[in-house]
Amino acid sequence: MPITTLNKFLQIKGSIFAATTLQELQEVWSNQEWDMEHPNDLKLIQRELEGFYNDKKQKLENIKKYEVTIPRWLANEKEIPSTFIGEVVRETQKAYLMRGTGDIVQTGHCMICNRELTNPVSLKYGIGIQCGQHWGVDPEGESHEEILRGLKEIANFETWIPKSQIKHKEVK
Ligand SMILES: [Zn+2]
Repeated sequence: MPITTLNKFLQIKGSIFAATTLQELQEVWSNQEWDMEHPNDLKLIQRELEGFYNDKKQKLENIKKYEVTIPRWLANEKEIPSTFIGEVVRETQKAYLMRGTGDIVQTGHCMICNRELTNPVSLKYGIGIQCGQHWGVDPEGESHEEILRGLKEIANFETWIPKSQIKHKEVK
């Protein structure tokens, strides 16, 4: 394999392995420029890379979602909700790198402050009116789509969370 082909191969392989979401993986895959100077090598590396791609795709599709609760002080510090649905992107002995998915959390408590919810609209979206407004979501005044978009934005984070600080974690 000429060095240019090998470089190309390693570069794409690296990007496939580094992808952390299906969307990222899709982008890596569809943004490839396959025109190379050695068309015969191309077939060879395409077949090989396709294997990596399919493995990774399967892995990413099987990522579990968790409902996680962390103490409020930590949530405040990180500017994230104290209860959220998230995926584990990476794990070390002491912490998870988690990504919020923006799914609605239905625990009967406010996702931000953990207070019990009674208002039916708040219960539906898992967020109190006051906390919602503070975070730019108005469960009483906005359309369903706007609220969903707002909740996605609130949960649009990726952060390390010490395992010792996780009060509750359950597969969703
Ligand atoms: Zn609240």
